[in-house]
Amino acid sequence: MHIELTDGVPVLSSSDALGAVLAASARLAVLGSWERFKICPADDCQRAFFDRSRNRSRTWCSMQVCGNREKARTFRKRTRAQNSTLATV
Ligand SMILES: [Zn+2]
Repeated sequence: MHIELTDGVPVLSSSDALGAVLAASARLAVLGSWERFKICPADDCQRAFFDRSRNRSRTWCSMQVCGNREKARTFRKRTRAQNSTLATV
């Protein structure tokens, strides 16, 4: 299987059946929803997911898992920063 660039869009082409299926799905993704395929930015997750939100605003693979964990992390960081500021004053 190889990738060609056609008008700046990567196009897969292949001679075997599996490659043809992959090429077809890749073409579909390029045509329709390429930007909706995302990788979860959480360091210990990095799962690929499909963003079904209307304005493609989804960041995490799961708001319940990674979204919440990240929110808690930023909150802890902020609280810690406040505490250290208080300590130095
Ligand atoms: Zn995740």
